[in-house]
Amino acid sequence: MSAFRCPGCGYVYDEAAGHPREGFPPGTPWSEVPDDWACPDCGVRDKVDFEADD
Ligand SMILES: [Zn+2]
Repeated sequence: MSAFRCPGCGYVYDEAAGHPREGFPPGTPWSEVPDDWACPDCGVRDKVDFEADD
């Protein structure tokens, strides 16, 4: 599984952990997160702005 980082605030979306509060259970792949989903921490950056975290 992969993780993706918000370039604005450093929040990391980890596919293994998902984000249940946003409606993404653990194991939700990044490809199933909508393109217009906004960062839950800063609310400024959208999915398309996130960078692979490796
Ligand atoms: Zn953010």
